[in-house]
Amino acid sequence: MIHIDGSLGEGGGQVLRTALGLSAATGQPFRIDRIRAQRSRPGLQRQHLAAVLAAAEVCGARVDGAALGSASVTFRPGTARAGDYRFAIGSAGSTTLVLQTVLPPLLTAAGDSTVALSGGTHNPMAPPSDFLQLAFAPLLRRMGARLDLQLLRHGFAPGGGGTLAARIAPPSPWRPLDLRERDRAGLLRARALLAALPEHVGRRELDTLLQRLGRDLLSPEMTHIESVDADGPGNALVVELPAAAATEVVTAVGERGLRAEAVAGRAADEILAFVRADVPVGAHLQDQLLIPIALAGGGAFRTVAPTPHMTTNAQIVERFLPVRFRFAEDRPASWLVTAAAP
Ligand code: AMP
Repeated sequence: MIHIDGSLGEGGGQVLRTALGLSAATGQPFRIDRIRAQRSRPGLQRQHLAAVLAAAEVCGARVDGAALGSASVTFRPGTARAGDYRFAIGSAGSTTLVLQTVLPPLLTAAGDSTVALSGGTHNPMAPPSDFLQLAFAPLLRRMGARLDLQLLRHGFAPGGGGTLAARIAPPSPWRPLDLRERDRAGLLRARALLAALPEHVGRRELDTLLQRLGRDLLSPEMTHIESVDADGPGNALVVELPAAAATEVVTAVGERGLRAEAVAGRAADEILAFVRADVPVGAHLQDQLLIPIALAGGGAFRTVAPTPHMTTNAQIVERFLPVRFRFAEDRPASWLVTAAAP
């Protein structure tokens, strides 16, 4: 039984999700204590409980401690099975984070799967569906696997009600990822998504972004306001930074009480840091790549400074899979991440 301290490093939901996904994929049981100890409302919230139950369903696990507020879970997995799954996260719980939890077992199962998820698709503190679709899935494809996503309805907090459909095909075989250079960057594209909000919100976000990034990075013709249907109001600013190697997607999600200029300012800060570093992998993709790279048995990528999410995730992944991650700042503000057998 692998023991995980849920307060480790970042100490959030990712520690739990990574352990669930890799336990379900490898068949190794684990116990986690002090779940999300570093968050203001620790323990299993609805979305984390949904992730536990989803992982359990995919691999036929026996689970103790699966209850709202629980600080400890014991997870004894069976065998991961391909199939057609439906997970309702409830309210605006993140569909993408639950999908990422079941991805490792479904990528190692024998056969293709479909997953239908309902909940939030554009949440703060989670990958928006656009990110999985445009940044993460193409890299999985390079590694030999397939993740095809369809956003059927947007879901914003607190209304939720979004739906996301995924089709997953395991690799045969895995190919190691090598993503060390950012070459041939394409034109940036920015979309302000608006559900039941006045158009000036999107206009002000795009104007702020244009001002902060300048003509060299973003031209007005590449900015769009997109009205979308959702249960209740919502807003997200989604910026695509395409390159031959990998598209990065930077997102800032609007919140009640947060000015449109501040939403765009967050996105602009992240984009400028990424562009200056001149690397293929940004601040969010870096932690999410560790699991597929470890499943593939190795790989290398260049990225911005390691986030606590990535260093924490590396420690959890190393508990379940025979891999060692190394991080080296071998150029100014540019880090090389490598994964290889220990
Ligand atoms: P946690 O905070 O532990 O629940 O983990 C949050 C996860 O969501 C991490 O994998 C983050 O990299 C990811 N994430 C948060 N915000 C974004 C974003 N704007 N774009 C992509 N991924 C994100």
